[in-house]
Amino acid sequence: MPFKTVIVGTGIAGLAAGIALADKGHQVTILEATSKLQAIGGIIVVQANGNRALDRLGVYKKFAEVCGTKPLPGGVRRYSDGSDITARKAEIFTDQWGYPFYTIHRADYQQVLWETAKEKGVTLHLGCRVVSVEDETTTVVLRSGERIEADLIIGADGVKSTVRTIAISDSPDAIRDCKLDVTRVNLPSAIVRSDPDTSPAMDYIALFFGPQTTIANVPIRRGGEWVLGIDYIHPRDENSADGYSKPQDFEHMREYFKDFVPFYQKIMDYTEEANVWRIIETMPKSWTSKKGRVVIIGDAAHAVQPFVGQGGAMAVEDAICLAECLDRAETIDDIPAVLRAFQEIREPRCKLVQDWSAAQGQRATLLDGPMQEKRDEMLKKLDTETFREPWNRVHVDMNPDSIMSSEWEPWLQGHDAFIYANKELDKRFRVRTHE
Ligand SMILES: Cc1cc2nc3c(=O)[nH]c(=O)nc-3n(C[C@H](O)[C@H](O)[C@H](O)COP(=O)(O)OP(=O)(O)OC[C@H]3O[C@@H](n4cnc5c(N)ncnc54)[C@H](O)[C@@H]3O)c2cc1C
Repeated sequence: MPFKTVIVGTGIAGLAAGIALADKGHQVTILEATSKLQAIGGIIVVQANGNRALDRLGVYKKFAEVCGTKPLPGGVRRYSDGSDITARKAEIFTDQWGYPFYTIHRADYQQVLWETAKEKGVTLHLGCRVVSVEDETTTVVLRSGERIEADLIIGADGVKSTVRTIAISDSPDAIRDCKLDVTRVNLPSAIVRSDPDTSPAMDYIALFFGPQTTIANVPIRRGGEWVLGIDYIHPRDENSADGYSKPQDFEHMREYFKDFVPFYQKIMDYTEEANVWRIIETMPKSWTSKKGRVVIIGDAAHAVQPFVGQGGAMAVEDAICLAECLDRAETIDDIPAVLRAFQEIREPRCKLVQDWSAAQGQRATLLDGPMQEKRDEMLKKLDTETFREPWNRVHVDMNPDSIMSSEWEPWLQGHDAFIYANKELDKRFRVRTHE
């Protein structure tokens, strides 16, 4: 049965869910607080599982065109001299997992999803801040006073989710402040290339692991031009604020990153504008409201530290799984049960990615010494073992015990949210005949 659905937020989660639900014939309206599609932020890396999810959503071709075809090698590097700790060839992701490792600007990513949502008949409203959600009547209330009643409300409104706080959980445990900030910079390729010291940074994707700090160096295509996107992750800065970004002071940055390879100091010389954000995780116990027809997805439900570049992929996987879950509901009365199933199916995977990313964050910021040396050895070994043999295309459904397990990468990168959701739903509901 087609449901009248209201989604709050036009981030990756909201737009992906809008597309997935419209594809299934549901009537979808998305409400966004900002007056234009958000172009804030910077780089997003999209790994094999994220690209497979976009393929399921039917937007992969368009997405890949925007990313561009330039393959880049990647790996982890030592902060002080730039030497490789791990090194992966550009084509290794496609060879191993069937999809590449793409980099894209967040605004371009959202634009692709926005255009597709429109083509699919999703109604999109900008400048509509949701200020309240009434669980009893499944109604959202806008700042303007307008009320919109629906069969189902989806909160895709990010880490500071109003939908979560009002309709699901306002417990302080739902949020974890990591006491880390990220300062984000985008520099035109022409500037980076103009200096022989900084020019090589356009030719690879790299994470530089340093004491208490990390740099993600990610070239992206922006409006047809290449740009160097850099995320500087550092301890909490007095410039950062709760819930929104603020201009960063580069004197602070110079101090945090003074021992890094000198060309990052040069990059700072060339940078005119940088913004700092706080990194926050979300982990509410429930993703659904008491009455059961309000659900949260994406960062509202499971925001993750950025060390493994998986938050956006988790959001698209959520969208696919949610659409499959709703497909098992024949009437409005079935919605609470399928939304509970949605959380049961998605939460273990998202939780493991969160835990892994937090652990990776601790590893990435170790002080120099025996633990750091052990880490570097372990990463080298893991990389060699992971890519020793081609993936056998068998999806690993069980959560692996540890990231040292040989099943870790097939579990993460080989995941197909559509297949997995239907496998799990078949255990809980009427078995689908896939007519
Ligand atoms: C530093 C950093 C680096 C990252 N790097 C990567 C990466 O490389 N790869 C990756 O996959 N992921 C990455 N992520 C994670 C990724 O950005 C998010 O997980 C992803 O964007 C999902 O976001 P979302 O749609 O759930 O929320 P958001 O992007 O936060 O979107 C929420 C939307 O809801 C709107 N909204 C909020 N409140 C209201 C309201 N009351 N009414 C109406 N609208 C409202 C907001 O304006 C916004 O448009 C990174 C995150 C960080 C912080």
